[in-house]
Amino acid sequence: MEADPCRREREEMVEFQIRARGIRDERVLAAMQKVPRHLFVPKGLERAAYEDRPLPIGGGQTISQPYIVAVMTEQLEIRPHDRVLEIGTGSGYQAALLAELGADVISVERLDDLALRAQENFTRAGVTGVRVVVGDGTKGYPPEAPYDAVIITAASPAVPEPLVEQLGEGGRLIAPVGPRECQDLIKLIKREGKVQRIPLGGVCFVPLIGQFGWQGEVSPR
Ligand code: SAH
Repeated sequence: MEADPCRREREEMVEFQIRARGIRDERVLAAMQKVPRHLFVPKGLERAAYEDRPLPIGGGQTISQPYIVAVMTEQLEIRPHDRVLEIGTGSGYQAALLAELGADVISVERLDDLALRAQENFTRAGVTGVRVVVGDGTKGYPPEAPYDAVIITAASPAVPEPLVEQLGEGGRLIAPVGPRECQDLIKLIKREGKVQRIPLGGVCFVPLIGQFGWQGEVSPR
């Protein structure tokens, strides 16, 4: 088998979905060209991995649309050796990109089976530099705080306060915030104890469920 059977599809994804829509950070574009997204989707969906949409990953959860992943990654302004906290490991794709950018990533996932599968995905894709922790990520992960960047890949009514607290000086935090169905993507920047808030546009994410997020399971609609 060819070493990288999806290189062409990935090139087209980066050109037509990502660069064409205004993502300019060459490091982010290169990382998206490199990370094999098809190894992060469930068996049978590999052929859809480079399509312009989110995909189901089991447990009612999704791997985000490539463009949304690109926006969030660019806005995090990752530098090599940044300490990054991700909430919502899911497939592990977002964390793999952050690791590709040279970050040391802690990723917290609420569901055991997804955490396990993400770890298998990292192994298959040869990703090192991500540590997965199972638990309620709305409380953050204090042992490794403060973080240079925090990314929340599930939606909550407000940014969980512990995550703002665990952000270091100069730190960036990206999160979808608002109603259950669709939200505003927002960026927080912490400087000299003050938090600046920048809106980045509308998104629709699965709910962040936990003490400082939504309480309990979402009833099916
Ligand atoms: N970043 C993922 C997509 C995440 S989907 C990727 O690249 O594939 C959102 C994930 O957040 C789901 O896996 C869901 O189980 C998880 N999640 C929801 N609430 C959480 C919480 N309180 N703590 C940690 N993970 C949570």
